[in-house]
Amino acid sequence: MARPRKVTSLPIKPLEVVQYGHPALRSKGKKIEKIDDSIVTLANEMILTMYEEDGCGLAAQQVGRALQLAVIDVMPAFEDRPSRAWIDGRELKLESLMPLVMINPEIHPVGEERSTEVEGCLSMPGLHDEIERPTRIRVICQDLDGSILDFEAEGLLSRAAQHEVDHLHGILFIDHLPSESLKEHQPLLRKFQSQASF
Ligand SMILES: [Zn+2]
Repeated sequence: MARPRKVTSLPIKPLEVVQYGHPALRSKGKKIEKIDDSIVTLANEMILTMYEEDGCGLAAQQVGRALQLAVIDVMPAFEDRPSRAWIDGRELKLESLMPLVMINPEIHPVGEERSTEVEGCLSMPGLHDEIERPTRIRVICQDLDGSILDFEAEGLLSRAAQHEVDHLHGILFIDHLPSESLKEHQPLLRKFQSQASF
């Protein structure tokens, strides 16, 4: 298991992941104006939480904070669900990008191609369904140093980035489902709602 990349003087601890029904999951994240120690600590705590929960991505909303901040690591899932990434047309070694911290991210689809794959969410454990999304995307964000990251992605990284950036705008993957599929998930969604801790 990879270790968080940056360590501050503040102690790093795993955070509680909130479940469907928590109001933070429907909140649009505030833009991060200054990447101070509290943001660096939060990002590292989110990375730790993501690893502990076996997730490939986590948004600030999922730890109860409505901020434009999400973390991703697609390496543990690489064999089953590979990813590719490019900067200025040159393919990157994925490891060099992971764990990825996305601050104030923007996503733009590249090309018309769309793909359908199964998604799940740490805030809705046990709920999985197929979601159609753009295959290739361009991501523009800041990293923890405040420098601009501008890359294109395909595979799980593309999907995870789109899923996490949705979270930052209060959108959940189930919002992309047709109403019949959503209906099938209602019993589980009601269970999450009744368990959501506020
Ligand atoms: Zn999610």
